[in-house]
Amino acid sequence: MKLVMKFGGTSIGESSRIRHVASIIRDHARKGNKIVVVISAMSGVTDELIEAAEKASIRDRGSIEAFVKSLAGKHNKACQDVIKNGEILEQTLRSLNEQIAELEKILVGITYLGELTPRSRDYVLSFGEKLSAIVMSGALKDLGLRTESFIGGQCGIVTDDCFGEAKPLMNITRQQVKEKLEPIVEAGEVAVVTGFIGTTQDGLTTTLGRGGSDYTATILGAALQVDEVWIWTDVDGLMTADPKVEPSAKTIPVISFSEAMEMAYFGAKAMHPRALEPASERGIPIRMKNTFSPDSPGTLIVQERQVKPESVVKAVAIIRNLELITVSGAGMVGAPDIAAKVFSVLGEKRINVLMISQSSSEANISFVIPRTSLEKAVNALELSLLGNGLVKEVTSETDICIIAVVGAGMKGTPGVAARVFKAVAEQGVNIRMIAQGSSELNISFVVEESGGVKALRALHREFRLDC
Ligand code: ADP
Ligand code: ASP
Ligand code: MG
Repeated sequence: MKLVMKFGGTSIGESSRIRHVASIIRDHARKGNKIVVVISAMSGVTDELIEAAEKASIRDRGSIEAFVKSLAGKHNKACQDVIKNGEILEQTLRSLNEQIAELEKILVGITYLGELTPRSRDYVLSFGEKLSAIVMSGALKDLGLRTESFIGGQCGIVTDDCFGEAKPLMNITRQQVKEKLEPIVEAGEVAVVTGFIGTTQDGLTTTLGRGGSDYTATILGAALQVDEVWIWTDVDGLMTADPKVEPSAKTIPVISFSEAMEMAYFGAKAMHPRALEPASERGIPIRMKNTFSPDSPGTLIVQERQVKPESVVKAVAIIRNLELITVSGAGMVGAPDIAAKVFSVLGEKRINVLMISQSSSEANISFVIPRTSLEKAVNALELSLLGNGLVKEVTSETDICIIAVVGAGMKGTPGVAARVFKAVAEQGVNIRMIAQGSSELNISFVVEESGGVKALRALHREFRLDC
């Protein structure tokens, strides 16, 4: 089979795990599979890079030295633990330390400038994957595999210049990826590619959004028309709820792209929200597997809808770190262009809106956005809406979360919403806002954050997802 295999940070948190992942790849390569490996940054490294970049932007020079030292130590140690062959080790350490020296220069540069642009932030973040790909490539060579590594945009992923959330330009990407990777996999070598990173047409480094290595995997899978894309993670596939929140969550054996998309969009961190698109467009199945239990079947994501009468609801999810914003003013009643104005301001600032509601009195519009976009959203809205006599204030509330109930079987099945809201009400949790997508694949609603987990667990029981 021709496969793209993506390994997340959780699968390569420490040396023993890196060795384990390398042996999984070797075993599949030895069976005659043609393999492209996509690798994420080691667990926690992307968060550390964000913190380092932010500290650099406030000219905290001392913390950079300490950070670079610890990052170098972590990756050097991983190489030393995993790579036995002296020559391979030496080469790997050399490449690693060249990248670390470059990163240090960039961080020092940011301290001089005292500012962090989205473009330089992406460049800093790209080092997590660059370093882990070097380590993994060394580990695979040490196991006797012939590999070729592609760092950053080298393998041909071209994106727009929306730094931090870049999108691939699929036509050129498809062509370049085919040109660069196909000869390698056809020759029986394993291609190792950094996840998460692309490049603009001008050669600037971009990132595909948090969790973006999943997206890299499906972009490459679609370009190479592979048989399947395998997403290896630390749990047994896509589950009925986040097992960290609901311990009785069960693995979903088969699910459709559209349902998995709803789950990803509504915060099932297991998958990047856009990652399903390239695979779904080309009909390439995605398999999610557990590196810690490689023989478990995991979850298969396929085109066809999987509706069984007993499972109208397939999964429940909770999304946190949100902000509920309300734009209000008596003057908004009957003013036809206010909603358009609000959402075009948010669109211009590239703020992702997760849910919207407008009361029938029209005196306010409420919507939910990620907490990280709060300042940008409120500033932009105040600047363009206040003072026109229509909008009186823009307020925000922090202590909320969204609960989403997902399943293709909800379409046309009456009574699901009633069961959802009854189960939540029985927990004494107050519902603040409700939305049902017209696709009827999900019902989502806002509750106070303190009641979120209670509501999620009640729904998991109500729809017997633990059975
Ligand atoms: P990786 O490093 O492999 O990309 P992530 O941390 O991004 O891993 O995603 C895996 C995590 O997603 C799991 O450990 C799990 O806690 C979380 N998760 C949230 N919702 C779900 C779900 N419905 N099914 C599976 N995992 C989920
Ligand atoms: N390392 C990136 C992140 O932490 C991408 C990924 O893990 O998929 O968001
Ligand atoms: Mg992830």
